[in-house]
Amino acid sequence: MSSPVVSGRSVPGGHTGRHFGLVRLTVGPFQSNCYIVGPTSGRSLIVIDPGDEPDRIQGAIDATGGELAAIVLTHAHLDHVGAVAAIKRRWDVPIWLHAAGLPLYEQAAEHAAAFGLTVEQPPTPERELVPGELFVVDNLELEIRHTPGHSPGSVTLVGGPGAFVGDAIFAGSIGRTDLPGGEPQTLIDAIVSEIMSLPPQMRLFPGHGPETTVAAEGATNPFLTGLLEPCLHCGAPRPLRNTGGKAGPCSHCAHPSPHGDGSEL
Ligand SMILES: [Zn+2]
Ligand SMILES: [Zn+2]
Repeated sequence: MSSPVVSGRSVPGGHTGRHFGLVRLTVGPFQSNCYIVGPTSGRSLIVIDPGDEPDRIQGAIDATGGELAAIVLTHAHLDHVGAVAAIKRRWDVPIWLHAAGLPLYEQAAEHAAAFGLTVEQPPTPERELVPGELFVVDNLELEIRHTPGHSPGSVTLVGGPGAFVGDAIFAGSIGRTDLPGGEPQTLIDAIVSEIMSLPPQMRLFPGHGPETTVAAEGATNPFLTGLLEPCLHCGAPRPLRNTGGKAGPCSHCAHPSPHGDGSEL
C-alpha cells in the first residue's frame, strides 16, 4: 500500500536559480504527499507536510545525510500533520503554519477520530508563515503566498524546484471546499491570482497525486476552464478580465493586455 520514495534527485532551481534536492513520499490512508526539500550543496533540509508514516519520513530524511531545520505545513488538515508530533520528537525544530490554520490544527486529533483514525495531536507551531515574506533556512528561500479556499490557512510555497501548493490545486483538479472553512470562489480566486500567475513552466507539487506545471493546469484543468486565457505575448495563463480577474499587464511578461491589442473592455 505504501509507495516508495519517488525521487531523490537534483533538480534545477525554478525560482531562484539555485539547485535543490527534492524527495517526495506518499503517505497514509489519504495518500498525502510529504516533501523533503533542501539545497544539494548544503546540509539543511525542511520537511513539508509530514502527514503520516513518521518512520518512513524519518528514514528518508536520514538517507539524505542532511539535517532537518524546520517542519513546514501548507495547511492543517489531519492528512498533512499526522506525523508532525513524531518528527518533532526526533528533531526539535520549529513548526511553521499560517495563523489562520491554527483552529483546524488544534483539532487535528479530534478530526482524525471522526474518520476512525488515530493522529497524535501535533505540538503548537512556534513560527508563523506570513504571506509576502520569504521563508529562509540557510540558503533555501521560499516565497509564501496565501492560497485559501480549501482551508483558511492554506499557503503555497514558491522556490527551489517549484511551488508547493498543498491541496489548492492538483493535476486536473482542485481542492475540495466542503470541509469547515472551505469556500469555492475563494479557492478559484487564489489559484488564479497566486498560482496561475507563476511562470508557465514552473513545477507544481500538490498535496496529493503527481506533479504538474502552471502551463499544463492553465491549459487543461477543467475547474479553470473559461477563467484563463493565454497571454498573446508569452503564452502564460492569465485571468480573463470578464470573470473578475484583474485587468492589467501579464504577471509573467508584463505585456499590457492579454489580447495584445491594448483593449480594456
Ligand atoms: Zn487538505
Ligand atoms: Zn490533503
